[in-house]
Amino acid sequence: MTATSRCVERTELAARAREAAARFARREQEVTDPVALSREVVAWAVEAFGDRLAVTSSMADGVTAHLVCQRLPGVDVLFLDTGYHFAQTLQTRDQVARSMPVTVRTIEPRQTVAEQDREHGRDLFARDPEHCCLLRKVEPLSHALAPYDAWVTGLRREDSPARAATPLVAWDADRGMVKVSPVAHWTQPTVEAYVAEHEVPVNLLLEQGYPSIGCFPCTRRPLPGQGSRSGRWTGFDKTECGIHP
Ligand code: SF4
Repeated sequence: MTATSRCVERTELAARAREAAARFARREQEVTDPVALSREVVAWAVEAFGDRLAVTSSMADGVTAHLVCQRLPGVDVLFLDTGYHFAQTLQTRDQVARSMPVTVRTIEPRQTVAEQDREHGRDLFARDPEHCCLLRKVEPLSHALAPYDAWVTGLRREDSPARAATPLVAWDADRGMVKVSPVAHWTQPTVEAYVAEHEVPVNLLLEQGYPSIGCFPCTRRPLPGQGSRSGRWTGFDKTECGIHP
């Protein structure tokens, strides 16, 4: 593909994303069943992009993967293995791979933790988590997403103030692809009801007081009354890894 045709293709993708974003913002005012709306969004994305659609998952649960694989069996589910995950997160990934028709693809950073330690010093996360996230999350994911036209995230508006305006569909200008967040509008009871109804795997840490799960060096239980993501990167002025700017 030439640079010019890729540019035209991106222009078309952007237009398609903006049209869908506006349409689903209107549908959100009309559809009262949050799961039904999610299924509409997923149906559109599968129709529009087919196997050039990938799901990304942090493996807090398998909800988004489950939603998409109902319409697109075998869909690629990308999981970033930073080398710093809790055992429970890796178990959830394996349960998702076993229990539903998806293709889990484990994405690894360019360097192992040991190689990163040698180049940047031990425990980069404790000194410069922005740089550590860039090396172990942001760059590997952007590289892994390059072959696709659209990606599906599990972002929810409830997660944090920074995510409160997350649209169902958006144009991801940084990556030149469509970003689909079909559960953006879900509340925690909606998640729990869906998990129970469909027996979706969930990370065991959720019931151990971790409402938001990332790498173990950067994840704590939130203090009572604090937001669900307040246990992430404690002590730093950082609330996102950089995957969702
Ligand atoms: S969450 Fe922490 S350990 Fe994981 S990539 Fe980011 S800084 Fe590194």
